[in-house]
Amino acid sequence: MAAYRELYRRGKLRERVEMALSLLESCSVCPRSCGVNRLAGDAGKCRTSRRAVVSSYGAHFGEEAALVGKHGSGTIFFANCNLECVFCQNYSISQLGEGHIVGKKELAYVMLSLQAKGCHNINLVSPTHVIPQILEALELAVESDLKLPLVYNSGG
Ligand code: SF4
Repeated sequence: MAAYRELYRRGKLRERVEMALSLLESCSVCPRSCGVNRLAGDAGKCRTSRRAVVSSYGAHFGEEAALVGKHGSGTIFFANCNLECVFCQNYSISQLGEGHIVGKKELAYVMLSLQAKGCHNINLVSPTHVIPQILEALELAVESDLKLPLVYNSGG
């Protein structure tokens, strides 16, 4: 069983969501520690304010075999990475911010739709700067019976 389900059952996931969201007020979600108020709509080095930006999502077959299985890894590509790697293969996503702004309900829907497609996991690509947003969406998705393991897919 995915560990987050046990956290949810014990009421601990809510605590972690609140703790993570509080980091957005003077942002220290990543080691950049920009100190901007993302709850008020400001953005720091990652150019992402209150809501996450998703570039694309779907069953992905280009990951390691153990993640792909028969039905693919359920990737969610987040835009506006907090790193600035000059060799990034996803430059238009990570630095130019291609994608759509999503709220927690939309992000929970994305997770559940990947599960419904038969994907073997939820593969969070470049997630570090939007961990609070992911956690609040995860809580909603668990309420609708999300069960898949999470993959933290970060070049950092
Ligand atoms: S998550 Fe973004 S705003 Fe927050 S500290 Fe990192 S780069 Fe700065």
